[in-house]
Parts: sequence; C-alpha cells; structure tokens
Amino acid sequence: SARAVTKTYHMGEVDVHALRGVDLDLRVGEFVVLLGPSGSGKSTLLNILGGLDRPSTGRVFYREGELTGLDDAGLTRYRRYHVGFVFQFYNLIPSLTAKENVALITDIAPDPMRPEEALALVDLTPRMNHFPAQLSGGEQQRVAIARAVAKKPDVLLCDEPTGALDVHTGVLVLDAISRINAELGTTTAVITHNAVIAEMADRVISISDGHISGVTENATKRGASELEW
Ligand code: ATP
Ligand code: MG
Repeated sequence: SARAVTKTYHMGEVDVHALRGVDLDLRVGEFVVLLGPSGSGKSTLLNILGGLDRPSTGRVFYREGELTGLDDAGLTRYRRYHVGFVFQFYNLIPSLTAKENVALITDIAPDPMRPEEALALVDLTPRMNHFPAQLSGGEQQRVAIARAVAKKPDVLLCDEPTGALDVHTGVLVLDAISRINAELGTTTAVITHNAVIAEMADRVISISDGHISGVTENATKRGASELEW
C-alpha cells in the first residue's frame, strides 16, 4: 500500500516531481496493469513498491509492516524474500544456462521451487540447458520470469516485460505471467504502454504526471491469446 507517496529528484537547480501524492492498495492475488505515458512515474512507483527505491515523503506498507520504517538491510530482505522483478531487458547471466540462471536465485531463497519446476511453469523444460545466446528474446524473458517466481514471491512486479518483443512473442510472455498469477495466486503488477494488455487485468491503474488519474475494474478479464492485437 502506498499512502501519499511523493518522489522528487533534485537535479541541480531543477526539481523533477516524478510522483506527486499516490495512494494505492494492491489486493492480494490480483493482476493489476499500470498504464500511462512515458515519464508519468510508472517505474518510479513500481520501484518504490518493490523496495528498490524510497519515497521522498509518504509511507509504504507491506502486510502488517511498514517498508518506509525499514533500514537498508530490512528493505533488502523484503526485496529478496517477497518480491520478484521482471524488467524489459532480461539481465540473464550469459555464461550460465537457463537452469543455472534460475538456480542462482533459488540458492538464496528460504523456500524456493526447484529450478526445473519454475522453468516448467513458463514452458521451458526443453530449453533448460540452453545458454541465453541460444534462446529467443521471448524465451529469455520467460527464463527471467522463472527466475523471478522461483523464490515464490508474494508479489511479482513487471516493468514493460514485453517492451523488447514482437506481438506474438509478447503474448507468450504475458500468458506465462497471467498463468502464474492464476495458478500460484501471486499478486502481480505489470507496467505497459499497450492498452490491449490492460484487458488482461483485474484492475487498470492509469497514471499521468505523477498522479493516479483513474482506476478501472475489468469485468471481463481476458487471456493474452484472446486479445485482438
Ligand atoms: P517510461 O514509460 O518512459 O518508462 P515512466 O512512467 O516509467 O516512463 P519514470 O521512469 O517513473 O517514468 O520517470 C518519471 C519522471 O522522473 C521522469 O520525468 C524522469 O525523467 C524522472 N526520473 C526518473 N528516474 C530519475 C532519476 N533517477 N533521476 C532523476 N530523474 C528521474
Ligand atoms: Mg518506465
């Protein structure tokens, strides 16, 4: 939960107001899409919810705890045990296979899945022993998703996960994300510029100029493959 969250970057003489007072609750198990123009503050908000960054003012809560009350070590623990991140660029380690990339994370989590299980969730069992350079972009992104969910995070935060992919490949990636949300009940927030993707969400949060400018409940949530691209 975010309460009156602001973020201001001080750039020399200029203040950049990236968030101007955001109140938001993510509901347990829901699939939320954050939609909004470039520069509106989407990544800033996601990074604050995920404990990668701190607000300038305002408070952030997680279950019965308060993130904004934690020291750096506490925030790192929150990130490590409770949050999975997926970014536009996959950030896989090139010298490790798909399975080894996932195992890096399962080695540090308290109650992880096996890497094989996580890769099966994203339909990559046959590619387990491939190195990143031997995988397509969509397959690399699915490895990154397996890596993010292998520690069984409570919340999965995805910042433009299909931004570097063509439409067809993006559908496979979104399918993997929505299946994980449905099957594991992982609370999921996905940033996108693509209004079509928003049709997959339980709720669409529109962001503009550092504010939440609208919240829409989706009565007819649809699967990635049902969308008209
Ligand atoms: P995009 O869709 O292009 O990714 P966004 O909605 O994710 O945009 P943010 O990255 O959250 O936007 O940026 C919001 C504003 O804050 C922008 O004006 C940006 O220039 C500024 N900003 C973001 N990060 C920093 C930073 N580390 N230092 C200074 N300004 C920043
Ligand atoms: Mg962004």
